[in-house]
Amino acid sequence: MPEFLHELLPDLQPESVPQPPDLALFDSHCHLDLPELWPEWLQHWQQAQAVGVQGCLIPAVQASAWQPLLDFSRSFPEFNIALGIHPWWAAQHDETSLVLLKSLLEQHRSQITAVGEIGLDYALAPETFTRQQLLFEAQLKLAAEFKKPVVLHHRKSMVQLHAEIKRQKFEYGGILHAFSGSPEQGQLFVDLGFKLGIGGTITYPRAAKTQAAVRQLPLSCFVLETDAPAMPLSGFQGQINTPKQLALVFEAFCELRDESPQEIAGQLWRNTLAALSIH
Ligand SMILES: [Zn+2]
Repeated sequence: MPEFLHELLPDLQPESVPQPPDLALFDSHCHLDLPELWPEWLQHWQQAQAVGVQGCLIPAVQASAWQPLLDFSRSFPEFNIALGIHPWWAAQHDETSLVLLKSLLEQHRSQITAVGEIGLDYALAPETFTRQQLLFEAQLKLAAEFKKPVVLHHRKSMVQLHAEIKRQKFEYGGILHAFSGSPEQGQLFVDLGFKLGIGGTITYPRAAKTQAAVRQLPLSCFVLETDAPAMPLSGFQGQINTPKQLALVFEAFCELRDESPQEIAGQLWRNTLAALSIH
């Protein structure tokens, strides 16, 4: 507190003044708009802020979320949003949704940070694959048309995602969300201009491969995420994940690195802005 304030407010103890956290963290993947979090989103966000979370990207999962997210980010522009169709919701979408996505990108270009959450999930039933692929390819094209980064969902599909990004010569990068793989797998996406989204996975002892990637790849490769309400951390299984848990993801991340927490936080923050083209 500046000296003159002490004189003006002699009774105010410095200890009672809330201090902003000295580390700024960015939750690059938080589904604050899903029913598990939405009714109390403000409370979740305030709890996250109290532990240093100062940035947040909310990726949509289906078309019905797009307009509500646009309305939300108009009222709360400190949140970044991504619009897209998640592969789990592929069956409920067709060409009509793609036309709508394109028109929203045209109308709200500057308000929409990225196209996402899009991707391929080959742990789902094989009969969903054709539509998943069609929607992913079309959304990747839309992202290129509007020069937007993408937020990628993957499950048993890293090879196919990588191939399609290369085939389309997509050059706007983004985030490979919920990265869990070897340093070599991560490097393939880093080479395509992507950052690797690191979440609660690294808090599990069984995640040796992903922990090795965090140890071995340069700090410039990573961003942090919670994927709340999904992906509870080790020790919180069965509970709803919330954005304040990002502080614990950060702690686990720091344990795997040699740099100071300050340096790590600063670099991860810059990585997120770069991955999402936020200026
Ligand atoms: Zn997600």
